[in-house]
Amino acid sequence: MDTFPYKDVILMYLEKARSFVNGQCEGIEPWKLIGLTFASTLILVWVHNFLFQPESLTSRSKKQVFKRIRNMPIVGGIIQKQINKALDDVTSSMPFLKDEKGYIKALPAQGISQDELLEKMKDYSSMSEVHWEDGKVSGTVYGGEEKLTNLLVKVYEKFAWSNPLHPDIFPGLRKMEAEVVRMACTLFHGGPSSCGVMTSGGTESILMACKAYRDLAYERGIKHPEMLVPKSVHAAFDKAAHYFGLKIVHIPLTKTMQVDVQAMRRAISKNTAMLVCSAPQFPHGVMDPIEDVAKLALKYRIPFHVDACLGGFLIVFMEKAGFPLQHPFDFRVEGVTSISADTHKYGYAPKGSSVLLYSDKKYRHYQFFVAPDWQGGIYASPTMAGSRPGGIIAACWATMMHVGEDGYVEATKKIINTARFIESELRKIDGILIFGNPEVSVISVGSDTFDIYRLSNLLATKGWNLNVLQFPRSIHLCITLLHTKDGVAELFLEDVKECIFEIMKDPGAKTTGMGAIYGMAQSIPDRSLVAEMSHAYLDSLYNTDIPSSEKHMNGSPGHH
Ligand SMILES: *Cc1c(COP(=O)(O)O)cnc(C)c1O
Repeated sequence: MDTFPYKDVILMYLEKARSFVNGQCEGIEPWKLIGLTFASTLILVWVHNFLFQPESLTSRSKKQVFKRIRNMPIVGGIIQKQINKALDDVTSSMPFLKDEKGYIKALPAQGISQDELLEKMKDYSSMSEVHWEDGKVSGTVYGGEEKLTNLLVKVYEKFAWSNPLHPDIFPGLRKMEAEVVRMACTLFHGGPSSCGVMTSGGTESILMACKAYRDLAYERGIKHPEMLVPKSVHAAFDKAAHYFGLKIVHIPLTKTMQVDVQAMRRAISKNTAMLVCSAPQFPHGVMDPIEDVAKLALKYRIPFHVDACLGGFLIVFMEKAGFPLQHPFDFRVEGVTSISADTHKYGYAPKGSSVLLYSDKKYRHYQFFVAPDWQGGIYASPTMAGSRPGGIIAACWATMMHVGEDGYVEATKKIINTARFIESELRKIDGILIFGNPEVSVISVGSDTFDIYRLSNLLATKGWNLNVLQFPRSIHLCITLLHTKDGVAELFLEDVKECIFEIMKDPGAKTTGMGAIYGMAQSIPDRSLVAEMSHAYLDSLYNTDIPSSEKHMNGSPGHH
């Protein structure tokens, strides 16, 4: 019985192909056949490896071209001169990097007394010219209340020497850490199998989520895992890709600054290891379409991380504060497998704490690290760090317990009220625009009429310190408890209006100072140059030398 009618036809074609290939190979010696086959296989493997790398071919070619240009004799020299000049501009516009008093470069031969030390410390604590206490700084310090500070100092005292690496020695600390994670799970409506970890901050929470999903992808047989993230996502995801050898694909945004879900769907492939949304994202304070992306996550069975590092401890209280969000964002959305939220931002805890939550324990296992064969003993560690500061965990626990639900709801009410007031007043001002629909605490401002960096420059002369963003150019204010004090929002709006009045006298004028540096950095096509300048900036953070020009002015023997 013949069940497959085309069998004869196929056999005939196979036979024809066989005799054709054999005919072509007639007269070739077998060793040549084997050699050619071997060589061409090697070439194919090489070409495949060359074409498909974590970094795209176009990006790699671009870098090569720029490298060649910089190595050319005359052009290269001109570029280097320009870089040096830009570096001078950068450092001279950062007065905080300078210090005329000189640096300590070695241990004091004899330890100094406590009184002397506290006196000396005043030199350091009084160095800042920016006073965040007045509410003129975007983000940075989210609570900063003196009463809370005093409490936290006492809490730290009790746990100053503790370390969660030794739960047998500090069982109370272990309990506190577990309770912080559980309270956070409850806030984000995690189910009975939800779980999590505490980390040193948002970046570590994000790194750990990416590491977990990378290892899950490896187990599923994905050799080159990719993450799909919105263009607006926090740079910690790029850092994770860099550290853990993941490919990162940046998905474009729609006009409202939310990730384009259709573009994300098209980018999904057999290599996709995780999807990401922000709640809200840092640049424009906009909530990504979490429900829509969750549908993709479920359909294609891909883990889905929601980065609520910034606003996590606002959005969970917004409904109770009288500002319900338009869409759900937490574990109630089926498909969300993990959430990061920073206790050291709107949780009002001191810096060095954050939580990473999973919908299920099976994901957390991929995050853990165990060295079963270490001579020092079986080493099992949940996060990046080994030893960790117990005092910070205790302080975080104490903050959450002291503020309580009523405290958080009240703070959220104040912050969102202030943000909505500032937003509606800014929208009335001609010459500027607001990006998207900022539902939480960040308001991002741009302009079609003038260079928006001029506004941040002018606001800086009035003591304001805003965040500068790029692609597209904009500046943002991240509203914290400090901006909710009487008169701060009004003063901000007044100063903005004054600055814009000044700018509109000549809307096309050139940008100077810090704004010009940001503008320049944005327009350089060779991004490795920008990276190089940033390296120089990072170097200067560790500088303990007085620049020679300054030494001349302040330190020459003739003046003393
Ligand atoms: C602040 C922030 C993070 C993490 O920042 P850390 O400085 O490491 O705490 C991550 N995502 C968003 C959206 C943030 O605003």
